[in-house]
Amino acid sequence: MIIPYGYLKDISGEIRIDEEKAKTVRLIYNLYLEGLSLNRIAAYLFNEKFVSPSGKSRWTVQTIDNLISNEKYIYMITPELYAKAQLEKQKRTNKSADNKRKTVRYNSNDVLSGLLVCGECGKNYRRITRKDGKIVWRCADRVENGKQAVCQNNHFILECQAKRIICDYFEIDQFDASTVKDSVERIEISANEIVIIPKSEQCFGIAL
Ligand SMILES: [Zn+2]
Repeated sequence: MIIPYGYLKDISGEIRIDEEKAKTVRLIYNLYLEGLSLNRIAAYLFNEKFVSPSGKSRWTVQTIDNLISNEKYIYMITPELYAKAQLEKQKRTNKSADNKRKTVRYNSNDVLSGLLVCGECGKNYRRITRKDGKIVWRCADRVENGKQAVCQNNHFILECQAKRIICDYFEIDQFDASTVKDSVERIEISANEIVIIPKSEQCFGIAL
């Protein structure tokens, strides 16, 4: 049996609190509740020369993280302090999930580049900034090969026009990249029509 950090087996074989290390456990919980990150706690313990549970001079973030959520410390530190630490941990987890969500938000350029496809040849439409500063999308085959292109679809679409059509389709006032990415499979463009193909009903079912 592995004895958790802060406990020891005495001569009679009983497990009891190692008062010296228990102080370190309390310190770690308190630092955590003061708002220090796991990294900063690790740095603090290193600077103050607290030896890690495995006898090393550096504590890993993982060790500290495990220690903070180990129920074996409930009565070593007090149930109140333990409960507070769990709440704090939950709060930090939610916060980092929020941050992640923000970083994966699509900007509108990215979202259209996977979605607009040529209705004639099936190649992606490509984003081009014209000399007059207007942004247009055209079949990649036409962009790359010009008059030698196999694809005969010479139709380009203004980015603002594409966005307006998408907004009309979803009955929204402002173009929202996340909505589009979540709901549209692809948008086929040809000379005389634009076809919006939504993700399958099954996908919507899962999302709800
Ligand atoms: Zn094409």
